[in-house]
Amino acid sequence: MTELKEEKEEEAITDFIREIVAKDVRADKHNGVVVTRFPPEPNGYLHIGHAKSICLNFGIAAENKGKCHLRYDDTNPSTEEVEYVDSIRNDVKWLGWDWGMHEYYASDYFEQMYQYAVQLIGKGKAYVCTLSPEEFKEYRGIPTKPGKESPWRDRPVEQNLDLFERMRKGEFKDGEYVLRAKIDMASPNIHMRDPAIYRIKHASHHRTADKWCIYPMYDFAHCLEDSIEGITHSICTLEFEVHRPLYDWILEQLDVKCHPQQIEFARLNLTFTVMSKRKLLELVQGGHVRGWDDPRLPTISGLRRRGYTPESIREFCRRVGVTKFNSYTEIELLEYCVREDLNRHAFRVMSVLSPLKVVIENYPAGKVEMLDAINNPEDSSMGTRKIPFSKELYIERDDFMENPPKKFYRLTPGNEVRLRYAYFIKCEKVVRDKRTGEVVEVRCTYDPATLGGQAPDGRKVKGTIHWVSVNNCVDVEVRLYDRLLTKERLDDVDEGTDFKDFLNPNSLQIIRCKGEPCLLGAMPGSHYQFERKGYFFVDPVDSKRGAPVFNQTVSLRDAWAKIQKKDNG
Ligand code: ATP
Ligand code: MG
Repeated sequence: MTELKEEKEEEAITDFIREIVAKDVRADKHNGVVVTRFPPEPNGYLHIGHAKSICLNFGIAAENKGKCHLRYDDTNPSTEEVEYVDSIRNDVKWLGWDWGMHEYYASDYFEQMYQYAVQLIGKGKAYVCTLSPEEFKEYRGIPTKPGKESPWRDRPVEQNLDLFERMRKGEFKDGEYVLRAKIDMASPNIHMRDPAIYRIKHASHHRTADKWCIYPMYDFAHCLEDSIEGITHSICTLEFEVHRPLYDWILEQLDVKCHPQQIEFARLNLTFTVMSKRKLLELVQGGHVRGWDDPRLPTISGLRRRGYTPESIREFCRRVGVTKFNSYTEIELLEYCVREDLNRHAFRVMSVLSPLKVVIENYPAGKVEMLDAINNPEDSSMGTRKIPFSKELYIERDDFMENPPKKFYRLTPGNEVRLRYAYFIKCEKVVRDKRTGEVVEVRCTYDPATLGGQAPDGRKVKGTIHWVSVNNCVDVEVRLYDRLLTKERLDDVDEGTDFKDFLNPNSLQIIRCKGEPCLLGAMPGSHYQFERKGYFFVDPVDSKRGAPVFNQTVSLRDAWAKIQKKDNG
């Protein structure tokens, strides 16, 4: 952990975007001011990919004493909802970022955008087209062959202005007319072939209600939103690289005060999960998960409910960095980051997920000893607690083996093992289920001289296992999570294949476990480490007073270290 800290301090973050921004600041471009924005469309909950964009935009603004706007890109009335707006605000805040007063809505600019469109028509740079959507597509052509000009391309300006105004007034049906930019039907860049910039859509908007029945298309709206807000650096994902000429073209035609620079970076993809709002929505609506905040989802709200911390997600984004190449990031890195963070402040307890009974034959029946346990070895200020020890205990079923392989250092017949915070015990015999032959109980003896885990005669034991006392433990619900998908990467899946075919049927397992008595008082929203098992988070939604529900955040196994070792040779 100290290693991680040192690395953090040494490594002043930089990347190609930060270098561009630094150069602009030095050159006093935009008067040395930096204004970025995070522009989600409120048509779903945010995911960890958005977190990358959030940390980048808010991070760059903060490092340059600039501003980052939270802007809802709400130009598509049919898919957007207030629930999404609220969740986005909540998630960005939870991640630790502050936009101050700079919360904006694209829909607040609809009038301005309309006027800009009128300006474009007036300059002969836009026309109202009567082609049907099918014809529109056909005329546009394919990248390797020029498109065909619309017969309405040279409609007189006056007529265009009149038709556009009537589009606004609601005189036409959806799809009857569109407003198109007049650029170049032969351009090798298909986005420059007279793209549609306004369409008719008779739909109620979550903010403007029925005031509008025409809505600007993304490419027309986005550059104007940026320009209106005085954004200096408009950072977006790589798929918009081919849209950049259009972004610049629109701003060049119009009288705008500010022409932001669009810069693209590679989006985040994570293995074993999906990273698109459309697919996430499909899982939520189809009932494949329990909602947007299902802990199996890579949504910010899902990760939060799983027990991820804002610090761990920010650290993950820092480590992922920013590049121009699309690639996958191993989900193990995300898990590593949360493990590192929780290690510092999670409360340790012992909890047995799959119990096997142990009876200590030479321990007095009815006796209960209160033993000292450490709450967090990384942080002595978290203190100690008492845990009850008695004749009958539960240990983890897989901590006992009758016929162990080599190097199995836990409990085996005739062998001694250390009970965490307690004594050495030795397995004397087993009790079986008469019918199945399964071991249902292990009979042991203990050495009273080994309290605290040391033998006075210096004899060593290799294994230490956790336990709870049968008559002094509590039963709590635990939700164990596995990968959302059985497939590592969705990019090599055939076109026609449904990603839902790869949903892991065992991604959620609900069990009851035996834990230390203190677990009954666990506060919703707090983090625990179940020793040797993993980190668990007290579910803020389903936990009741005296009946906490524990979500498994992550196991203790560091699979990331393994991956790195493999990669390094
Ligand atoms: P999705 O593809 O998941 O539906 P989106 O790009 O449509 O997402 P927006 O609401 O438009 O979602 O995204 C808001 C911002 O977040 C945009 O600037 C977008 O480029 C960025 N973003 C979205 N997904 C990722 C990702 N996986 N990695 C990095 N940035 C992303
Ligand atoms: Mg989008």
